Amino acid sequence: MYFENVECLRCRAGLGFDPESREMVRVANDGDAGDGAGATPDPSDAGDAGEAAPDPSGGGDHGGGAAQVLPAAVRCANRFLAGCNWVLPRPQPGALCRSCRLTRTRPSDTDLARVPDVTRRFVRAEAAKRRLVFQLLELRLPLVSRHEDPAWGLAFDFLVKQAEPITIGHADGVITIDLAESDDAYRERMRVQLGEPYRTMLGHLRHEVGHYYWQVIVSGNTDELEGFRRLFGDERADYQQALERHYEQGPAPGWAEEHVSIYAAAHPWEDWAETWAHYLHIRDTLQTAASHGVIVTGPHFGHRPVATRSGRGLDPSLTAAPSLKSPQDLDEILADWLPLTYALNAINRSMGRDPLYPFVLSRKVIERLRFVHDQVLHGRGSPVQRA
Ligand SMILES: [Zn+2]
Ligand SMILES: [Zn+2]
Repeated sequence: MYFENVECLRCRAGLGFDPESREMVRVANDGDAGDGAGATPDPSDAGDAGEAAPDPSGGGDHGGGAAQVLPAAVRCANRFLAGCNWVLPRPQPGALCRSCRLTRTRPSDTDLARVPDVTRRFVRAEAAKRRLVFQLLELRLPLVSRHEDPAWGLAFDFLVKQAEPITIGHADGVITIDLAESDDAYRERMRVQLGEPYRTMLGHLRHEVGHYYWQVIVSGNTDELEGFRRLFGDERADYQQALERHYEQGPAPGWAEEHVSIYAAAHPWEDWAETWAHYLHIRDTLQTAASHGVIVTGPHFGHRPVATRSGRGLDPSLTAAPSLKSPQDLDEILADWLPLTYALNAINRSMGRDPLYPFVLSRKVIERLRFVHDQVLHGRGSPVQRA
């Protein structure tokens, strides 16, 4: 059963993802009249939208561990348009889920009909966004949509290029994405052109949402802002000039000692967004590896051997956000992460692919990651407030 599934690959029972519990749940299939095809023994009339209980007869067949089956009307209305498998808190035909609600602009119906491949690109972008939103919820970061907070909520504009080029970016809570980036050929061409070792839709989303959280968590807090400037530099440096210089001259020699990527060297804001994106890459990938029971035996970073610490491979409690209490935990995270990347990079090469994580975390980059980690702990559960 995977995060993206809408049904069980074995018994075809309907599945969805519940962002509230952050678990996969059973959902009645569309038009399922209870003909016994699924795992549920009792007929739940899909036409009866009034009642969430799966068993109108009140029978006790669900006592034996069978999951509760939610009615099809809890599915997000973007089930087909965006390929969304998330569910709503209660049956509400036509309503959008927590992730889809964050999308302010989607391709127009005209574009969907006119431009080939737009639907597929939108589906891929929304899939990446659901992964992002899942992680933001896991990390308990403040997450408010633009509907709820028109001034400072988060919104995504997924745009289809018309005459004017689209600039991927963030402005005061609005993240703009060029849907062409969902296209493998286009994105790979851009990656080579810009000399980047890594370029994905999920990477774009993580980077841009980093700009948002800088404003939400860091910018309004004098102490944090001071700490930020000590590590990343002064963000009041002219942004346009910095970017122009970056694209004309490239990074200063020795950039890798300071920054996680070349683009991070362009301006303190970009350094933060790049480092933030890496923090999310690391946390998500570790969580997935831990949930699959992956064991890596080394080589080790720091003082302790990874596999012997837990005895059973990666420690899932470390990768799940709520257990992280202190900034020191970053060392634990990296002690798991670095050996895992050595292994995954080598495994990718065995398949003729580029390394999964083609980055080096220098001492200074690790200090920046520690700052991000700290901010995530600080920002948890705090209200979204504008600086
Ligand atoms: Zn949805
Ligand atoms: Zn940026």
